[in-house]
Amino acid sequence: MRWGIRIPEKPNGAALAALLLTHVTATVLTYMCTVTTLGEVVIWLPNAVLLAALLHFKGERAWTMAAITFASDFFIGAVRFTVVEGGFYGLTNLVEVAIAYQLMARFGASARLDNIASFGRFVVAGPLVAPIASSIAAALAIHFSGRVDLPVASLTLLWWYGDALGLLIVTPLLLAVLDPPETEPSTTAFDAVVVVATCGVAVLILSGLPTRIIGDVSPTPTALLPAVLFIAARYGPRGTALLVAALSVGTAWSQAAGHAPFGPGETHATVLRIQEFVVTLSIVGMGFALLLAEQRGHARVLEEHVRERTAALEETNRKLSRLSATDGLTGLANRRRFDQTLAEVCAVGRADGEPVAVALIDVDHFKAYNDTYGHLAGDDCLRRIAEDLAAAAQMHGGQAARFGGEEFAIVFSGLSGETAAMIAVDLCRDIRARADVHRASAFGVVTVSIGVAAAIGSAASPARLLERADAALYRAKSAGRSRVEIDRGAQPMLIVQA
Ligand code: GH3
Ligand code: MG
Ligand code: MG
Repeated sequence: MRWGIRIPEKPNGAALAALLLTHVTATVLTYMCTVTTLGEVVIWLPNAVLLAALLHFKGERAWTMAAITFASDFFIGAVRFTVVEGGFYGLTNLVEVAIAYQLMARFGASARLDNIASFGRFVVAGPLVAPIASSIAAALAIHFSGRVDLPVASLTLLWWYGDALGLLIVTPLLLAVLDPPETEPSTTAFDAVVVVATCGVAVLILSGLPTRIIGDVSPTPTALLPAVLFIAARYGPRGTALLVAALSVGTAWSQAAGHAPFGPGETHATVLRIQEFVVTLSIVGMGFALLLAEQRGHARVLEEHVRERTAALEETNRKLSRLSATDGLTGLANRRRFDQTLAEVCAVGRADGEPVAVALIDVDHFKAYNDTYGHLAGDDCLRRIAEDLAAAAQMHGGQAARFGGEEFAIVFSGLSGETAAMIAVDLCRDIRARADVHRASAFGVVTVSIGVAAAIGSAASPARLLERADAALYRAKSAGRSRVEIDRGAQPMLIVQA
């Protein structure tokens, strides 16, 4: 369920027309709920329309909006009041809204009323303080007009309550409608049953049927408070504002229509009772909804925080494990990682009967290279060789690693010793052909010697393979370097010179 109206940011013509329409509707609705002969109302709704518009548009075109609502007030009230009275009451309404708006700004209440602090500031600035001056002025005017025989204090209280309640229930509702959230809470079947049942019971109580059937001792609208709390928990401040406004106006209408929802009694006393019921309904319902929404918001923020932290931790772990498996200088797999891979490949080889081959690569006369060109140039040379090895390994599905110092290794899974040796010979030739100058070497360029060993099935033991590849490498060195030697197990050695 998503409800609300997206009103433009600026108070343009359409927005002003909507303001007029809403104000007229609120005024007509208010008079429909008027219970006293003089026209004092249980809840005066229209002032909240102007206040909500001022808050929503941040005071822009305030004078135009004031003029529109004044006109609506004046012309609809003309059937009840003289021109002077109508003008006077219209002005008191404008002053009241202006006070509420200014005080809210001074108290720092957010225009959205979506948290308990803002709502509290609004309640003090709007309903509590703003109508005091206008209700005293209106009460004095009524008293001196001689139209009603009530003390000024009682008239002030009734007027103040009426205006306060209008602001209290309609401002949050209009702001909620004007600013619909992106997502609404989902409705379960149970929620729907409760909402429908609440509406049914409300209509029943407000229609006065129970009083007519059972007599005076029958449920009053206060019985609906638990349902308001349920809606507050399920639908938040928006749903609560809607229900509170509907129940409040419904109760006022019920009284005006003669159904006496709070039982029989003197009119003014009953009006006061209804007003106090509306205060309870609104403050308890909205307070509970806002508190709950705020707490859920905090929980969401906390969950989000935990999610972010967990993700960051996972990323750090991934980086750490990458770092702990990588050689810092060349970016190849490090010795630890190579040992793991070799053990895994050998295990698979023993299980599947796939051949496993290992090549150990050692840079020739590398100490002399360092001595001639410096250690940093030596590092660059190692990086270039590592790139060649990585490319060759990747092409043939093997993994290249830095074995230690100026020694490297490649492990191939599923390749025979001969194939691995051919790859090694190509590597040996390619590195030499790259002609990386090495004055101190008899070859005049950087060269490598490679020892290759391969095994099949149960013979695939990491330690044994490395031992044999190392022995082959040693022999390649002894035989004059820049060459590949293959240890083919029982078969004779094969030496290929690069
Ligand atoms: P051979 O042909 O017999 O392999 O001779 P070699 O000089 O390459 O072998 P030796 O074991 O005597 O020297 C290896 C050199 O590799 C010594 C060491 O300073 C150098 N070395 C080892 N690791 C690094 C490194 O990370 N960077 C540099 N620049 N040099 C390194
Ligand atoms: Mg060495
Ligand atoms: Mg060496």
